[in-house]
Amino acid sequence: MLKVGITGGIGSGKSTVCQVFETLGIPVFYADRAAKYLMENDAVLVDGIKLLFGVDTYKAGKIDREKVASIVFAKPDMLEKLNALIHPATVRYGQQWMLKQTSPYVIKEAAIFFESGTYKDMDVMVGVSAPQTLRIWRTIGRDGITQEKVLERIANQMDEEEKMKRCDYVVINDDETALLPQILQLHKELLQKANSVK
Ligand code: ATP
Repeated sequence: MLKVGITGGIGSGKSTVCQVFETLGIPVFYADRAAKYLMENDAVLVDGIKLLFGVDTYKAGKIDREKVASIVFAKPDMLEKLNALIHPATVRYGQQWMLKQTSPYVIKEAAIFFESGTYKDMDVMVGVSAPQTLRIWRTIGRDGITQEKVLERIANQMDEEEKMKRCDYVVINDDETALLPQILQLHKELLQKANSVK
């Protein structure tokens, strides 16, 4: 089965693009959502987080995200430690999920692929690209956060241009170029690729 990774900067429209692929019958693994789920449902991960941040990080099985966010924001080494716990758990979960799929190809959507090296597990990498100003506006509109917060997140990510250069395909989601025809064309090519590697 062909494994396709979809990546892009914050607010580029990765999830939006993936939702279209889902309507075409392609299963999508959303790494961020999986990580959030595992932080409360994977016993080993929960224990690791409790060890790192204290047992009071959880109340009735729910993680105190604000507490974790404030700690990792102040201490970058804690963020690294947290990621070192979450990342392998999410990768493992994604691998198990992929084994259960029966479609010609599957998609994994994640903001970090090149940063983590997990792009190596994918057969094809697709980038979703949008100008930075538009990405900022979209994220403010979606999450209701300040421009400063979005810029902080952008500063923590790999440069979008560099990311796109490393992808095999790039989908332009700039509110000017029609999105659907690009996705349909890409779907066609991915199906052909999937057939040729069978
Ligand atoms: P993140 O990395 O933060 O999860 P993302 O790359 O997955 O972001 P989306 O959540 O898909 O981005 O898009 C960000 C916001 O922009 C959403 O509210 C989405 O509905 C909107 N958006 C994205 N693409 C388009 C588009 N082509 N037309 C209209 N709205 C769009």
